Amino acid sequence: MFPLNVFPDTTKIDEQGQLTIGGCNTLDLAQEYGTPVYVFDEETLRSRCRSFVREFDQRAPGTQVLYASKAYINLALVRILNEEGLGLDVVSGGELAVALSGGLPAKRVDFHGNNKSPQELAEAVAQGVGRVVVDSFHELELLNRIASDAGKTQDILIRVSPGIDPHTHAYTTTGIIDSKFGFAIQTGHAAEAIRQALGASHLQLRGLHFHLGSPIFELEPYRAATDLVLRFAAEFREEGLNLQEFSPGGGFAIAYTRDQQPPAVSEYAEAIVSTMNATCADLGMPRPKLIVEPGRSIVGPAGVALYCIGAIKEIPGVRKYVSVDGGMGDNIRPALYQAAYEVVSAGKATVEPDDLVTIAGKYCESGDVLAWDVMLPTPETGDIIAIPAAGAYCPSMASNYNLNPRPPIVLVKDGKSRLIRRRESYQDMMLCDVV
Ligand SMILES: *Cc1c(COP(=O)(O)O)cnc(C)c1O
Repeated sequence: MFPLNVFPDTTKIDEQGQLTIGGCNTLDLAQEYGTPVYVFDEETLRSRCRSFVREFDQRAPGTQVLYASKAYINLALVRILNEEGLGLDVVSGGELAVALSGGLPAKRVDFHGNNKSPQELAEAVAQGVGRVVVDSFHELELLNRIASDAGKTQDILIRVSPGIDPHTHAYTTTGIIDSKFGFAIQTGHAAEAIRQALGASHLQLRGLHFHLGSPIFELEPYRAATDLVLRFAAEFREEGLNLQEFSPGGGFAIAYTRDQQPPAVSEYAEAIVSTMNATCADLGMPRPKLIVEPGRSIVGPAGVALYCIGAIKEIPGVRKYVSVDGGMGDNIRPALYQAAYEVVSAGKATVEPDDLVTIAGKYCESGDVLAWDVMLPTPETGDIIAIPAAGAYCPSMASNYNLNPRPPIVLVKDGKSRLIRRRESYQDMMLCDVV
């Protein structure tokens, strides 16, 4: 059975048994734009934005949805997100520059990161970002000094680490004690950070933030951490902490493989907001404004990578390697943390998969494999394969390893396609070289 659940909403199989997305035939897209190419479905993208805004706003009116740029951002995407009423969470001066160049008001940007540079903090303050989410004592001091020099008071949140394990890969777990992110509650560091922030002359502490990791397939970690952090915040009421804002971050899961069933956006919203309501009522505290930061769950399901099969090598009794024209340079997730993907043959979508193969990339690393042991209809050189759920943390983590140009991104809608990022050229890759 074709794993339609991991593909964009508009995905169909036409009469020739070929995959179409947004009304565009994927073999035609591969022909027109070359491979590898990333196809983003505009309808899925917008519908994911709308469901976050709707599901949170109807339970907690005024919730701010900030898209986590690191999942993938560029100018065209900023415009779409802006049109849908989202703000952005950025983690670098580069992401901030793209957000502002794309026309997003700075007030709708929050600045994250465990080691923002003095220059990045100065840019954030000068541009007037909504909040800086402070992650260390070093940053508390530095930001206060920078804001003071600029003659401004900067709104901040403090990122706490609630010590709750979200049961995801160790490399993508962030809210436990042994993490480079945030002030741990258990060690007393979070308490100390709140006191310092309240005493800082040019910082306005508006609330607390946590982010547990990603992707989180369970609701319970959100419930537990929300309750714990709100109770922790209440301990500082007498010391002057007025919790106006609260953010449980992002990390909402998507289906990468056919068997995965992540909670719906409505279920995440219900878990978080109902916990906030219950805990705030118990503490006699008004419910703070909620800020959520979905990244993967917005752009991930909208993106499909297309590759062309080249060399096929069968090692008898061992394995059949099917090599494609991309790999770890455009999608490092399998190599980095054993991420698993579905793979389908875009021109043989109705043919029963009968061949067990391993999809290898073209990069000079044995670990450069996109998918181990997947079933495909007998692959042939020249076939186009599609890897779904590839919108998040693939192009954004892309590199020029082996000096392969990074692939283009094509936006599809209603049978029309347009580039929102062109393929890099050899010249692009030499642009910063100095002889
Ligand atoms: C990465 C990150 C997110 C987004 O995570 P997703 O899994 O893409 O939703 C949100 N907030 C913070 C602080 C992050 O670091």
